[in-house]
Amino acid sequence: MIGVPDRYTVIGNPIAHSKSPEIHARFAAQTGQELTYERVLAPLDGFARTVRDLIVQGVKGANVTLPFKLEAYALADSLTERAKAAGAVNTLSFEGGIIGGDNTDGAGLVRDIVVNAGVSIKGKSVLLLGAGGAARGVLLPILNEHPVEIVIANRTVGKAAELAAQFSNRGPVTSSSFEALQRRFDIVINATSASLADDVPPIAPLVVGGNAFAYDMMYGKAPTVFMRFAEQHGARVRDGLGMLVEQAAESFFIWRGVRPDTAPVYADLRAKL
Ligand code: NDP
Repeated sequence: MIGVPDRYTVIGNPIAHSKSPEIHARFAAQTGQELTYERVLAPLDGFARTVRDLIVQGVKGANVTLPFKLEAYALADSLTERAKAAGAVNTLSFEGGIIGGDNTDGAGLVRDIVVNAGVSIKGKSVLLLGAGGAARGVLLPILNEHPVEIVIANRTVGKAAELAAQFSNRGPVTSSSFEALQRRFDIVINATSASLADDVPPIAPLVVGGNAFAYDMMYGKAPTVFMRFAEQHGARVRDGLGMLVEQAAESFFIWRGVRPDTAPVYADLRAKL
């Protein structure tokens, strides 16, 4: 079907707020790739059915967002190593009747930290706040950068311990409560959803002191409460907008084999927040 652009979608519920169509349209224009990318609202009980319909329609791939990342994992016929480690899928590819599942969130975070912020993870102490889906999704890609340690701290300490145990055969991962943390870390990543409630995990100021690098996966027009807390105590800070753009770029690369230039897209999104 020469001349018909390949179709891609993002599937979620809700989905109206998703910035992915805008990001992928920019990537496509920039790289000269002929494709369309649209939002698809799947019923809460109809994710698999929605995916199968899209495949029948000839759609080539889909991003998956809340609340379907675990269902996408279960639906995939084949999974990448990083998707298996994440236990969740945010990128589906439909090739030759096979549903391929990948997870680009961790790669997006690492690229935003290492390339865009210029902060190397190699040899650094990393504190990961939170033990939910986002935290799990970034653990393997962070470990692959060879930090000297990763400590996972979570409000429900048992979840941090469980996650650390699952990854301890892959690298130096341990767990902690927030309150027991009484030393500085080089890199502190907030993967909790506390910022949504304008809340900061109860960590001691010295944890983010001494020019630590503090990253909040959440983003918004103004710095999050976590970023304000960290900056006030001496950290350099960054929010998760770059992670959003970079995970999209990684999906685009999986589908099209071309790596877009993320900087102008990031700058535009930032200006519009
Ligand atoms: P989950 O619901 O899976 O996990 C939430 C985590 O936050 C849990 O560890 C939970 O602790 C903790 N938490 C929630 N409220 C508080 C609080 N008030 N104080 C301390 N800890 C709290 O969510 P996700 O892991 O999927 O998402 C986490 C964040 O990451 C969200 O804000 C999301 O927007 C962001 N994100 C950003 C991305 C990006 O591209 N920038 C990509 C993916 C996620 P407990 O276990 O004790 O309940």
